[in-house]
Amino acid sequence: MEPLIRVENLKKYFEIRKSIFSKPLYVRAVDDVSFDIPKGSIFAVVGESGSGKSTLGRLILRLIEPTSGNLYFKGVNILKLDGKEMLEYRRKMQIVQQDPYNSLHPRKLVKDIIGEGLKIHFKMKRNEIYSKVKGILELVGLREEHMFRYPHEFSGGQRQRIAIARVLVLKPEFIVLDEPTSALDVSVQARVLAMLKELKENFSLTYMFITHNLAVVDYMATHVAVMYLGKIMEIGSKDDIFNHPSHPYTKILLDCVPSVGTGRRIRTVPKGEIPSPINPPSGCVFHTRCPKAEKICQIEEPNLLEVSPGHFCRCHFYG
Ligand code: SF4
Ligand code: MG
Repeated sequence: MEPLIRVENLKKYFEIRKSIFSKPLYVRAVDDVSFDIPKGSIFAVVGESGSGKSTLGRLILRLIEPTSGNLYFKGVNILKLDGKEMLEYRRKMQIVQQDPYNSLHPRKLVKDIIGEGLKIHFKMKRNEIYSKVKGILELVGLREEHMFRYPHEFSGGQRQRIAIARVLVLKPEFIVLDEPTSALDVSVQARVLAMLKELKENFSLTYMFITHNLAVVDYMATHVAVMYLGKIMEIGSKDDIFNHPSHPYTKILLDCVPSVGTGRRIRTVPKGEIPSPINPPSGCVFHTRCPKAEKICQIEEPNLLEVSPGHFCRCHFYG
């Protein structure tokens, strides 16, 4: 079956210069990434902060342009589309950001925050917008009277529900959820996640779920990509990654997973700092922190090799 999204050799290098006279340096935020997102899946992208996962999400929505690579939505290379042709895809592909405190306009009423997109994309009239907004608020567990309030009158969890309603009302097919619950309390987080799962089923959505929290991945995902310094280290079904992890980095991440809802805080990152993406380590980019590293790891970069059907790992000694 054709995937909903196909990412091919996608790269995003940000140029930085100390001065106009110095040689440019490049931050390799996303470094030659390829994968498919099947329709109806919850494709989790996991990694520590600085691994490039948010940049990847923004690239896939074409909110930023890649340095190179191809990007297909139902077989159409959307990087080749002009602004006008892109408009329909902008509606179909949406994002919910991490911070519900900054993502909603503070001086707009909820009805206008949610209704705005309906005016732009569907040219709806006021009456129609009113009933659509009312309906969508009920779907995310809010009420009609909430339409006439401002974002600051809501809790973090409620604001995230408003942010979700705002994208849902546009009838998207694909939503990037960038750490959608990491700013919320644990109990609120669990309810919002459960709601997102239910909405996915009811509206036949496909999610790309960006997070650093593997307990959340365990609860949500059908597929998992583990990122490190802009590269995919391991990718496969949730079962592959959780029950048959092959990459040393994945194994370390899994060793420190707390469970959703318990709120227990366990160390969630491997020892040591993530190296700078400006000067990534030679060979395997993970070698400076890898407990299994050998001499070859400093010299030769491992390829992403297939461990079992659909399950790939980037390590000289996988398995
Ligand atoms: Fe570790 Fe070497 Fe495998 Fe990289 S290639 S993950 S450094 S063992
Ligand atoms: Mg991020």
